[in-house]
Amino acid sequence: MANAHPYSAPELLRFVERLGKEFETRGLAGEANSLRVYYAAVRKGRVDPSGALRVAWSPGHVLEWLKILGLEPYKNFYRVLPFETERCPGCTRSRMSVTVELSCGPIRRVRCRACKEVWVEEIKA
Ligand SMILES: [Zn+2]
Repeated sequence: MANAHPYSAPELLRFVERLGKEFETRGLAGEANSLRVYYAAVRKGRVDPSGALRVAWSPGHVLEWLKILGLEPYKNFYRVLPFETERCPGCTRSRMSVTVELSCGPIRRVRCRACKEVWVEEIKA
């Protein structure tokens, strides 16, 4: 794994520990909490090749992904259509009025700007 910084993972972990202790000493509990998550990711090799961990999860984000993927308790929340569906399922306008709101690999959440219909498009394997 390529490193974008000059330190080995053990060295980086020592810096993270030092910084975390200082955050706690200074009462920066939020920073200390997120640094704990980063520490665990570095320790388990779950950071990207640059050493970064990009995490921005929230309850709203979790619920939206349950809806997008059609998992309980949001089964069938969004209509799922093939990728690049030609017409809006709400108002039948052309693709020109569709905005891709979220794109993640084979899955997209799209919205019709005309009628506000939202659906999921998925490339089926
Ligand atoms: Zn529409």
